[in-house]
Amino acid sequence: MQWVGAVRFMFNLALEQRRDWFRPGRRFNYASQCREVTMLRAEVDWLKAVPVHPLQQALRDLDRAYQNWWSGRAGAPQPRQRGLNDAMRFPDPATFDFRRVSCRWGEVKLPKLGWIRFRWTRSLPGHVRNLTVTRRAEQWFISAQWEQEVAEPAPPVLPALGIDMGVRVFAALSSGVRIVPSNEGKKAGRALARAQRKLARKQRGSRNRRKAKARVARLHARVANARKDFLHKQSTIVAKSHGVVVVEDLCVRNMVRSAAGTIAEPGRKVRQKAGLNRTILDQGWFTFRTMLAYKLASRGGQLIAVDPRNTSRTCEACGHVSGESRNGLRFVCVACGHAAHADTNAARNILNRARDTRLLPVEASGCRADEAGTSVALVA
Ligand SMILES: [Zn+2]
Repeated sequence: MQWVGAVRFMFNLALEQRRDWFRPGRRFNYASQCREVTMLRAEVDWLKAVPVHPLQQALRDLDRAYQNWWSGRAGAPQPRQRGLNDAMRFPDPATFDFRRVSCRWGEVKLPKLGWIRFRWTRSLPGHVRNLTVTRRAEQWFISAQWEQEVAEPAPPVLPALGIDMGVRVFAALSSGVRIVPSNEGKKAGRALARAQRKLARKQRGSRNRRKAKARVARLHARVANARKDFLHKQSTIVAKSHGVVVVEDLCVRNMVRSAAGTIAEPGRKVRQKAGLNRTILDQGWFTFRTMLAYKLASRGGQLIAVDPRNTSRTCEACGHVSGESRNGLRFVCVACGHAAHADTNAARNILNRARDTRLLPVEASGCRADEAGTSVALVA
């Protein structure tokens, strides 16, 4: 706890220096701040007690946060918070070591701490490059980043798939399958609401408040774990059985949605609620897409993003575009009478669009996918 506290302190101090002590002609960067950490450690005992590498890594993280901000990939760097950002990274493989004790247990050797037992839950097939120790909801986790040479997988001979991400249905597939969202959040919601009410009544700084806070954190972690489990399972199923998967470009979709939402939804509270739901789901969609991208890539498949404009209002059979074709969950074309589930119709349009237009590989990432168009052949 002291070590992750020191790392957090270092990050926040360096952030303050860059943010509040900036003067023309005075430059702060990773190298200058590293030199100052060395000087600071010579004078402050509790900083000297912490290995220097995790402290330097905090400065590196901050430097990256600034780079991301300046290039428009992220917002301004924010201070790290106790309880939310309790982590430290060991970047040098020479300073740590692993050994397996049994099938379930392993031990890791950390600088100044010695051998620590942990529950071994993942295989380590490659050369470990760095270690991160994290504390989440009163539990400690150790994660290793490893590197391994793999041969380029051959493109699989599997069908192509279009996916429409929605609010009612988590994902509608062009094959007709609809993935409904897991209701873990809803199940844990009541317990969470109760725990939060209890927390609100506790006196600030008291021992009971700390206990109540830990319970809230545990429940939050449970919901997050359940969601991650759901996303992993669904993305694995999809990636295993398809060669090319087409999704909508999320940035464009969001703009379309918010414009439509203001007309469609009259009540103010309704809109706020919908917005909230959407942001929660948005995170799920993005994670799902990220998981799909790497799971497909590791099997030789590919994820493609297309412009989603009008995909929910276009008839999959005749191509007629009309908002009147859409009637809640049903899609009945006003031109040709073709009827289908609205989300399945949209998923098929997304798949068709990848066939018809210039294809965009998702690895080019996010909003800028359109700038890096490369065409790919569809399997089906
Ligand atoms: Zn039609």
